[in-house]
Amino acid sequence: MKTIHVNASKSYDILIERGILDRAGEEIKTVCGAGEALIVSDDTVWDLYGETVLDSMQKADFDVTSFTFPHGEQSKNLSVYADILNALAARHLSRKGLVVALGGGVVGDMAGFAAATYLRGVRFVQIPTTLLSQVDSSIGGKTAIDFGGVKNIVGAFYQPKKVIIDPEVLETLSRRQLMAGLAEAIKMAATNDAELFELIENSAGLTADLPQIIYRALMIKKNVVEQDPRETGLRKVLNFGHTIGHAVESFNAGKLLHGECVALGMIPMSGDNAAARIKSVLEKYGLPSKIGQSAEELMPFL
Ligand code: NAD
Ligand code: MG
Repeated sequence: MKTIHVNASKSYDILIERGILDRAGEEIKTVCGAGEALIVSDDTVWDLYGETVLDSMQKADFDVTSFTFPHGEQSKNLSVYADILNALAARHLSRKGLVVALGGGVVGDMAGFAAATYLRGVRFVQIPTTLLSQVDSSIGGKTAIDFGGVKNIVGAFYQPKKVIIDPEVLETLSRRQLMAGLAEAIKMAATNDAELFELIENSAGLTADLPQIIYRALMIKKNVVEQDPRETGLRKVLNFGHTIGHAVESFNAGKLLHGECVALGMIPMSGDNAAARIKSVLEKYGLPSKIGQSAEELMPFL
């Protein structure tokens, strides 16, 4: 097992290990004790991994139930957020209670925001299940919902007590989602870690290298968020590729995944040599590498 200790406004550990899901309960117990808990997940992830996490928490003596909502970004709204609060209130979860987010970035952001606000904050653990959430959204303490047609406009900075990462769950993730997450890891490598970039460039088949890629990408994000937890300066480096990427994402409204747009957005921001290397690594993994719009078309969305 690899452990990363994060020292942001609060400190917590990130554990990375194949198969760790089976003993998630024990790992959570070491930071929270065994008390009342609600697992929040989406329908897809719950069907795949819900029982495993529920069983392991019950074995560790948690008084645990679950709440699931339909998968996808369209659930990241006020009404589903209210449903989570209702589930917490219906259980009379006390301030010593615990929320476990089991899923991708949508679940993490929603469950995290509910945990941050219910009773002014209850304990929160992340079990991210997409590559994007494992390398990016589960660390750094940003939680949010979409509101009024704007992404992530209502939220809070709120740190988890622990993050539990099982690279094995990525085996059920679609290749497209996996690669979209890889694009964020490529972004981190391109800005901070030449060896990680080479590892991704040279990897044969990716799967065997995923634990190492996740670990190194998280080390980059850890170092950045520890120095700049509220994104006043350095943390903006993590936005590499996002300026043009977000414009491409808005223009294509829902047709491209966020990571695919970040992939595209890195190229025009880079010098010739860097752009060529980034392009070739994107092509290696079947990520898009050519923006389909002209500068004029994208300008209104920039
Ligand atoms: P997601 O949570 O919607 O997951 C993508 C899809 O994969 C979903 O349909 C989900 O059901 C499915 N899935 C998840 N894990 C699976 C598994 N192991 N096997 C099979 N299917 C699985 O999307 P995402 O890409 O993980 O996250 C995107 C969200 O994260 C966005 O809302 C974005 O705003 C947010 N985000 C937040 C931060 C942050 O710092 N808080 C950073 C980046 C992104
Ligand atoms: Mg991003």
